[in-house]
Amino acid sequence: MKVSVVKETAPGERRVALVPEAVVKLRTADVDVLVESGAGDRAWHTDDSYAEAGASVVSRREALAADVVLMVGKPDAAAVAALQPGQLVIGLLAPLTDPELVAALAEAGVTAVSMDMIPRTLPRAQPMDALSSQANIAGYKAVLLAATEYGRFFPLLITAAGTARPARVLVLGTGVAGLQAIGTARRLGAVVSAYDVRPETKTEAESVGATFIELTSVGPASGEGGYARALSEEERMAQQEELAGHIARHDVVITTAQVPGRRPPLLVTEDALKSMAAGSVIVDMGASALGGNAAGSVPGETVITENGVAIIGASGLPSSMAAAASAMYARNISALLLYLMKDGQLALDLDDELQAGVIITSGGEIVHPALAATVAESPAR
Ligand code: NAD
Repeated sequence: MKVSVVKETAPGERRVALVPEAVVKLRTADVDVLVESGAGDRAWHTDDSYAEAGASVVSRREALAADVVLMVGKPDAAAVAALQPGQLVIGLLAPLTDPELVAALAEAGVTAVSMDMIPRTLPRAQPMDALSSQANIAGYKAVLLAATEYGRFFPLLITAAGTARPARVLVLGTGVAGLQAIGTARRLGAVVSAYDVRPETKTEAESVGATFIELTSVGPASGEGGYARALSEEERMAQQEELAGHIARHDVVITTAQVPGRRPPLLVTEDALKSMAAGSVIVDMGASALGGNAAGSVPGETVITENGVAIIGASGLPSSMAAAASAMYARNISALLLYLMKDGQLALDLDDELQAGVIITSGGEIVHPALAATVAESPAR
């Protein structure tokens, strides 16, 4: 069976789906690995290093013709057009927010497997959880960006030239990225507070060194599968208002809040921004074209407000640590690929809960129940 890795085409993307170490592992499972020339360049893996690991370095056309095509993100339109019925494609396809891609993959007759649909609470899915591995990296890097932008120290420093008080950091959203951000900010010496709308995260946040803030105006909002549910308009306004008081007391705010398949909730309003001291820093990990967790954030840019608050629209953080992110992603995607195989061949089984969770199209159809309705309602259809 031929399994290929294609070079990512999304702007700014530096990661690669397999690193040479993962190639060695797949070779021992009797998989022929093809790597598009240059696929690993931006993560510091040369064509030669893949060849030494036992892969064949090939053209893009050959890579796109393999039985299984591995990628980090989504295939671009030209790649979808090149795919043939019966091929398997695995990547972070973000199908909940891209119904057009799901429809195109179904029409192309390919079996599409989306790494971001893995049922994360299944113990056997842990090694395949790319959302967690990449969120961990993003949470770490967000703190480094904040520390670089912040014009003061994170730790308490007592020197002959005076004493610097530690930075007060607030982490909003304590999922995987938020917990890593708390731990990283603590290791840099900051005093860290945290808040999440899921009350069960309190003990986790405390265990990595944060003081957990409990809001009195919003009740628990745990949704399905361990995720948060979207808040009602009333809850949202109450939350924003109560949070504003806490935000004003912090030097650095790192926001990580997400609700699957929806635009990120707005947590830091314009009024909250106005209440912050000049020199404060926000890192908005939810920054997107549709808006983020902080008012006025722009993905990929740092915006300075009139009152001197820097809002970093953090996008592509895992890609900015391409070597580490690719190594982790390669372990995740290899584990999933091997799970989908038996005796050196693909053995797909929609009766298996994990497989049913990740397979979104097959045999020309959209087979994932959570997607069939979304795609049918899409305005492009
Ligand atoms: P996520 O990226 O979907 O969201 C980040 C955080 O934002 C979440 O903690 C969420 O509760 C929070 N949030 C959403 N709306 C909010 C709002 N309005 N105000 C404040 N906070 C808000 O989350 P994630 O990091 O992907 O993790 C989601 C869940 O998956 C967690 O329960 C996590 O523990 C779970 N998970 C479980 C496993 C496992 O069982 N092994 C592995 C990974 C993740």
